[in-house]
Amino acid sequence: MAAHANFFDEVNQSFDVAATFTDYPKGLLDQIRCCNSVYRFDFPLRRQDGSIEVIHAWRAEHSHHKLPVKGGIRYSPDVYEEEVMALAALMTYKCAIVDVPFGGAKGGIRIDPARYTVEELERITRRYTHELVKKGFIGPGIDVPAPDYGTGEREMAWIADTYAALNPAQIDAMGCVTGKPVAQGGVSGRREATGRGLYFALREACQQTELMQPLGLSLGLEGKRVVVQGLGNVGYHAAKFCREGGAVLVALAEREGAIFCEAGLNEEAVFQHRKQTGSLLNFPGATNLPSSAAALELPCDVLIPAALEGVFTAENAPRIQARIILEGANGPTTPDADPIFRAKGTLVIPDIYCNAGGVTVSYFEWLKNLSHVRFGRMSKRHEQRNELQMLRAIETATGKRFTEEERAEIAKGPDEADLVNSGLEETMISALHDLLDTRRRHPGVPDLRIAAFLSAIHKVAHTYMQMGIFP
Ligand code: NAD
Repeated sequence: MAAHANFFDEVNQSFDVAATFTDYPKGLLDQIRCCNSVYRFDFPLRRQDGSIEVIHAWRAEHSHHKLPVKGGIRYSPDVYEEEVMALAALMTYKCAIVDVPFGGAKGGIRIDPARYTVEELERITRRYTHELVKKGFIGPGIDVPAPDYGTGEREMAWIADTYAALNPAQIDAMGCVTGKPVAQGGVSGRREATGRGLYFALREACQQTELMQPLGLSLGLEGKRVVVQGLGNVGYHAAKFCREGGAVLVALAEREGAIFCEAGLNEEAVFQHRKQTGSLLNFPGATNLPSSAAALELPCDVLIPAALEGVFTAENAPRIQARIILEGANGPTTPDADPIFRAKGTLVIPDIYCNAGGVTVSYFEWLKNLSHVRFGRMSKRHEQRNELQMLRAIETATGKRFTEEERAEIAKGPDEADLVNSGLEETMISALHDLLDTRRRHPGVPDLRIAAFLSAIHKVAHTYMQMGIFP
């Protein structure tokens, strides 16, 4: 999966198509699509063997129309400036689509994390954060990073700790980054959020006759055959929630190849097998496929790319047999593949909508950090008491007696995870209906991707117009 050089141009191609369905002045559209600032920097790392290596890093802030800006940090040997800018742009549109009040940003460090010790990764992460602080590219009201490809809770904890150490008097310092461990200011459900959001998006799409009928698919997720590429944070959790929701995981793909099993795979068993053997190949009961790319071409109902961008191109799109592509990764489809999917009648559920679960729950984490209180802390017992009173009233009125289990299940009072997950569910469901409405209101809009860009352009333009900058 080589990095493709024109990723930012490719994002703008979709933007330009969507913009033709608006009558905003060119200057406003130019302002929305350009990348407001890019900070590129290099710093030295002393390796454990004493040698010095120069590390290349970026932070791009695509749109300052709302602050803070928000977006993940990627560790990959293929990171390059255009990619970081493109991913930052996708964040702007994604936040707008799910009504998260942030501009878009993205960071990247050009390293293969597997080549460094944990101590070296910690030094790289802390130095990166230090550089961002120096230039004002991080802060709870300025720019709030999060995990992305190659990073997770551990890196976010290092970032939060470095930022807090450099800003000792700042009471909101923990809001400088999201995706932190729960014990260090994180929020329950953030780790699973992108995968869970993908599941909510797919489940809702599968309930829409207007989407399923043209595909010749039955309503509902039950029994749908799913292929997932990439068993990292996004892919693993998307696979888990889809399987638990009734789908069958017929194939899973990783760097080293893919496995196929008609009867269905269990992502956790495959994950453990990969951990023990170093490869997902030779999983008991499954057939090996020679490459990750081969798995993309299997017949299936739903294909979830959850690794890197640029996996569907004009070259392989004609051979993709999936009826639905659910874009877990950012930018998996190049613009020349989109018309091929349209012509084949493939439903592409676009990244800027369906993988927005992560940033949605990051928003909840940021709110928690600013309010300094866990969600549900003030209301859980109160709601539990109300629910118990309601049960007693029902018992008195009907003579029915609830069992202790029913009582515990109904009158539990929501905790943080319940509230976060229901906020995410609500967000993903209403955003899909927004996109479907946008498509209905603009009959020429060719697909959901362009509908998503169009919806985002309207929302960002509206903010600029409210500022009085544009008429
Ligand atoms: P991750 O590092 O946790 O996992 C990525 C996985 O992809 C790894 O297991 C890696 O081995 C695998 N992989 C790499 N090359 C592959 C190949 N050729 N075939 C199959 N698998 C391959 O990263 P992640 O956080 O899960 O991010 C994955 C994608 O989802 C990225 O495009 C990222 O930008 C996007 N995304 C992530 C989040 C988030 O919250 N983490 C949110 C939205 C979008």
